[in-house]
Amino acid sequence: MRAIVIHSARDLRIETREVPKPGSGQVRIKMAAGGICGSDLHYYNHGGFGTVHLREPMILGHEVSGHVEALGEGVNGLAVGDLVAVSPSRPCGNCQYCAEGLRNHCENMRFYGSAMPFPHIQGAFREVLVADASQCVRATGLTAGEAAMAEPLSVVLHGTRRAGEILGKRVLITGSGPIGTLAVLAARAAGATEIVVTDLEDNALGFASRVGADRVINVAQDSDALAAYQAGKGTFDILYECSGSPQALAAGIAALRPRGIVLQLGLGGDMTIPMQMLTAKELDLRGSFRFHEEFPTAIALMQNGSLDVKPLISHTVPLDQAQAGFDLAGDRTQAMKAQIAFG
Ligand SMILES: [Zn+2]
Ligand SMILES: [Zn+2]
Repeated sequence: MRAIVIHSARDLRIETREVPKPGSGQVRIKMAAGGICGSDLHYYNHGGFGTVHLREPMILGHEVSGHVEALGEGVNGLAVGDLVAVSPSRPCGNCQYCAEGLRNHCENMRFYGSAMPFPHIQGAFREVLVADASQCVRATGLTAGEAAMAEPLSVVLHGTRRAGEILGKRVLITGSGPIGTLAVLAARAAGATEIVVTDLEDNALGFASRVGADRVINVAQDSDALAAYQAGKGTFDILYECSGSPQALAAGIAALRPRGIVLQLGLGGDMTIPMQMLTAKELDLRGSFRFHEEFPTAIALMQNGSLDVKPLISHTVPLDQAQAGFDLAGDRTQAMKAQIAFG
């Protein structure tokens, strides 16, 4: 079977690996779709991010779906032929945080396609994957592409949970990438009455409009457009900061009303924060990182029609053109979510 392997910055190869056998409690999956994520692009373009660097070749990918083709011993609830979304979140189940139910904070997390630990955790951009049955959620009725969106959607659902009550709230989303546009869907499903999205790129904002943002603002062209929302003590109840940009964070904080909530989803390294405004407006600053138990919820919300991620899947590229797919995924003037088709 073939797999997409990153060796170092800009050195992406399609290599052959042995087809593994499913052990007890595991299933073998013929992969169908894999979404290219910002972290995959960091490995591809820069060989890592922050203090995380590739130290050995690593199979990329963690937003995946496929069809079950063989069952290991003792697997119930799945059948050969089922379309499944595969959660890349693999906590140990034994550490302090797992015991407390904070599984996304597992100290021994084996998240697919991550160079944080060494040896690196190999990813799921491969034609065949053996996974624990407990990672697999049946995605009956969805397309393989939708099923592969369960992972980034779970990130946003976890963030939405961290934000708390959204019913009737006014929401500002800074950064209209895949996470920001999925946040439009999640905030709407959670009952937000007004959703405004900012970005620097019209193509990205077009996707936010198409999935239901009430207003989009290109802050590169119209740097004053947020001023009306910043007047007095501000307007919005909740800021989903999805850009990782300190400028966007500062502009968003200025547009929050007293007791508003800053939900930081974007990864921008060590950002500076207008702390005085945080204090004076009594804002809450909340981080959000990965997800765990939200994964089946993401599938259910797509299945029951609460939200539709299909408009965000902008490109589907066959495995043998993976490199072109990665280049496309990184081009914000064209792409929103680019996916690899394995089948
Ligand atoms: Zn991702
Ligand atoms: Zn753990």
